[in-house]
Amino acid sequence: YKTLRLVLGDQLNLQHSWFLAADPSTLHIMMEVKTETDYVWHHIQKACAFFAAMESFAKTIISQGFETLYLHLNNPSNKQNISENIKDLIEAFGIEEFQYQLPDEYRLDQELNNLCSQLNINWHCFDSEHFYTKREELADFFSGKKELVMESFYRAMRLKHHILINNGTDPEGDKWNFDIENRKKLPKNHKPNPPLLFDNDVKAQFDRLVAAETKTIGSIVPHYFQWPINREQSLKLLHYFCENCLPLFGTFQDAMHTDEWSLYHSRLSFSMNTKMLSPMEVVNTVLAYWEEHKKSVALNQLEGFVRQILGWREYMRGIYWMHMPNFEQLNYFNHVKKLPDWYWTGNTNMNCLKQSISQSLRFAYAHHIQRLMITGNFALLAGINPDDVDFWYLGIYIDAIQWVEITNTRGMSQYADGGITGSKPYTASANYIHKMSNYCDSCKYDRNDKIGENSCPFNSLYWNFHDQQRAKLQHNHRLSMVYRTWDKMAPALKASVLQRANYYLENLDKL
Ligand code: FAD
Ligand code: SF4
Repeated sequence: YKTLRLVLGDQLNLQHSWFLAADPSTLHIMMEVKTETDYVWHHIQKACAFFAAMESFAKTIISQGFETLYLHLNNPSNKQNISENIKDLIEAFGIEEFQYQLPDEYRLDQELNNLCSQLNINWHCFDSEHFYTKREELADFFSGKKELVMESFYRAMRLKHHILINNGTDPEGDKWNFDIENRKKLPKNHKPNPPLLFDNDVKAQFDRLVAAETKTIGSIVPHYFQWPINREQSLKLLHYFCENCLPLFGTFQDAMHTDEWSLYHSRLSFSMNTKMLSPMEVVNTVLAYWEEHKKSVALNQLEGFVRQILGWREYMRGIYWMHMPNFEQLNYFNHVKKLPDWYWTGNTNMNCLKQSISQSLRFAYAHHIQRLMITGNFALLAGINPDDVDFWYLGIYIDAIQWVEITNTRGMSQYADGGITGSKPYTASANYIHKMSNYCDSCKYDRNDKIGENSCPFNSLYWNFHDQQRAKLQHNHRLSMVYRTWDKMAPALKASVLQRANYYLENLDKL
């Protein structure tokens, strides 16, 4: 072989120009390595999903005539490190040029830069041909501006890509954002369509991980694996979403329910983050479906979905490349507490956390509001070290890859970036959780109480957090109402609230 091409586990893009025509002098290398399985405690379903999707991708390109070597975790010649394996292959095959696609993670970007600087053959880096934007596009867009407002970036993306735009400049429906019509609680007796689950066999991948003594979290039902592991299944999931979830996606986007773990969400993040599906084809498919079914799919449902992908997903990627590696160190509130043990088991009396964590351990999935307003909100109010919070989020979710995990976790949910990704911390007391879910109905704690022995911990921790962080937050105009309410509270009540919060903070593991 003359050329060696590296395909990373999240670069399963069959539509990449690399795969237009096979060249017998080019060898593709895909590998399972310990450095990737061990940098965090991955959910067992996530580790299996990556391996299964990688193997399926390798099989497909081999069947199309592309020379491919797949190095399994248990292969004796596997050095368990990407760079070392590549050096071995270059030598073994007398390779003349090394090629790779831009990685999405800073860690791998550094590693591959470093590797190339040591090679004495040619090397070439290609775009991954996946995103709407280039790595630096967001930084260029906001250059000279003080605040990186997602909404203005999103509108510019809509205009640039002519998505839901009329007459060149007008937003479809005369509004850019239909959020106000969304965010409804699930009505009693409303049963969402069941999620589309696949029946994939991942025993071989599971056995390799166990044999390599990989530390994982969460559970898996042997021989039954629900996540899509190839492009065909990913496309099925996309079409299922259009027909069964899109019509109510926006309306119940923020709803949470004890009997439902995915409601009307698409669960397409794994397929997109591994590049089995491109964001453009997801957006275009959904737009085309809406064009044909305007009677059953209102504009607010569609716009809400498009914004997540064209707006938030691209925005987070841009923030990542703008602020790494510093982003990893940010801790605006200097939070140092350890994550309570029950984050790893779901074993807590707080029903909202019990439900959100248990379903995450069971399905490697929770939807955005569970991540932001339940597990994330609690970690922020309890003053947990963002390193611990990142470690948890980076492992537990099927779609967790650092570029989109850390910007959402350390940034949006923990405000550890001091306001790069969001204009205020996302905090809430039981009021909001009750408004959006049925969790409080069967909880040991009293959602209406903030000082008693059985009072909901979110209530006192909420006020305690704002009191503690007053110097950093009181001038934020979006929080003026919070501080006005706190200041009006009777001093004795305030003292009791802070006392209750302190008790909870000292007993986090027992909650
Ligand atoms: P849907 O609700 O169906 O949304 C459609 C798509 O929009 C998603 O598949 C996703 O690609 C995109 N999207 C929606 N919100 C965001 C967002 N805030 N940032 C980027 N893309 C978004 N997403 C990940 O892909 N990986 C992560 O590791 C991750 N960690 C998160 C951690 C926290 C604390 C929070 C608050 C959010 C995180 N998100 C992450 C964003 C979002 O929660 C998930 O993308 C979404 O829940 C995935 O489920 P879905 O495919 O059913 O999404
Ligand atoms: Fe969560 Fe508090 Fe409601 Fe219990 S009462 S479910 S802890 S918000």
